[in-house]
Amino acid sequence: MIEHPPGAEKIDAVVSRQQVYYQSGETRPVAFRKEQLNKLREAVQRREPELLAALKQDLNKSEQEAYTTEIGIVLKEISTALRGVRRWAKPRKVRTPITHLGASSRIVPEPYGTTLIIGPWNYPVNLILVPLVSAIAAGNTIVVKPSELAPAASKAVASLLRDTFPAEYVAVFEGETSVSTELLKRPFDHIFFTGSPAVGRIVMEAAAKQLIPVTLELGGKSPCIVHKDANIPLAAKRIVFGKLTNAGQTCVAPDYLLVHKEAKPKLMQEIAAAIESFYGKEPIRDPDYGKIVNERHFRRLIGYLDNGKITLGGQYDATALKIAPTLMEDVPSDSPAMREEIFGPILPVLEYDTIEGVLAIVQANPKPLALYVFSESVEFQDLIAERVSFGGGCINDTIVHLGTPYLPFGGVGTSGIGSYHGEYGFKAFSHYKSILKQTNRIDFPFRYPKSKRGLSII
Ligand code: NAD
Repeated sequence: MIEHPPGAEKIDAVVSRQQVYYQSGETRPVAFRKEQLNKLREAVQRREPELLAALKQDLNKSEQEAYTTEIGIVLKEISTALRGVRRWAKPRKVRTPITHLGASSRIVPEPYGTTLIIGPWNYPVNLILVPLVSAIAAGNTIVVKPSELAPAASKAVASLLRDTFPAEYVAVFEGETSVSTELLKRPFDHIFFTGSPAVGRIVMEAAAKQLIPVTLELGGKSPCIVHKDANIPLAAKRIVFGKLTNAGQTCVAPDYLLVHKEAKPKLMQEIAAAIESFYGKEPIRDPDYGKIVNERHFRRLIGYLDNGKITLGGQYDATALKIAPTLMEDVPSDSPAMREEIFGPILPVLEYDTIEGVLAIVQANPKPLALYVFSESVEFQDLIAERVSFGGGCINDTIVHLGTPYLPFGGVGTSGIGSYHGEYGFKAFSHYKSILKQTNRIDFPFRYPKSKRGLSII
């Protein structure tokens, strides 16, 4: 039975047991790590129906969406780790300078130890299990705290992990914020947090008290720029896909659109057509269209609707917690819709004339987690990619950069610290220990006090 919230003593006991287990060295052999990854894969595959049902319940995710954005990504991350971990974990020989003649040098990846993963509600399976894969591959023990705002997924993930791993290796604490607060007082060796910049600050402050290293995967306002020479019908489809997956509740969803004024009329038409082709004439009645996670976020989103002129959508259903895909124009730069991360199916549309206009708007906001640019001109693509700082992004697409394990995924500035996915996840959960092995065959006397210059061969 789950206690809400678990007592401080229970957390202490689990963390201490994990520390002892970690110190035993059992989690270190690559063979052990692979065995655990295989167990996790088997459990995720076996419990797929349960996970899909939980995601339907919490966020009305269709099976197709839940598989491609959550379960499939977890399974892909496991197979990438199984393939790569032996190579990633190998000590690496590096050069030694002539000043250290006779010595050899190597870098040895070592697990941090006992780690903490705190996840958000929007991809509640993916954003707990993908970091967990990295932490296991790197050889750590792990405490996991899923988000209380996706309760069915939290329960399904907790039960999957409890049935697969002993608590001294992987433990789960479900519950409210108070559980995270309590966990953050413990002496973890690394904290991996995914969530809002506001809570990221709280996590980093708590970590700073004990000098615990952190990875922070946060959010922000991700711009989507459509230039006049873009392939407009394709851009429209890809923007709608990235914006309406999980009803806009995606950290890397296009937050606002910056469109060249010559391309705007056609883009607006094509976006309307793409929405209709994906979700019909009345998206809020479509059974596969996502719902807003809860009443509080629903009200917050409705609040944006009077920040500008609605040119498409604007309908909502308070009982089903659904908001139609909505385009808004004339949204002032100081309105909440242009200052806060929207995190829903509402898309402010701003137009520009010159590149300076684009940069002025984008640079008025903190560094975003993602940026998208649609253009046929390599010069324009490169100009945006070089002049703007952002976590990661796509040229001529949206959100799909997070589906490749070969690109580090993470933010910059207020959108995050550190990155993960594939080998980058392994690195996030590892310390790279430097070892210089000295020779005893020669010894330079001149480095010692009061010595005369010269080389002594022993
Ligand atoms: P959140 O920051 O409110 O909550 C995240 C987690 O922190 C939850 O488990 C919650 O229980 C815990 N938490 C909340 N308040 C806390 C406190 N005061 N002290 C300690 N822990 C606390 O975020 P959310 O609403 O679940 O998710 C939405 C945000 O997450 C958006 O900003 C989004 O952009 C971001 N996000 C980022 C990524 C990414 O990969 N960079 C992915 C998904 C979501």
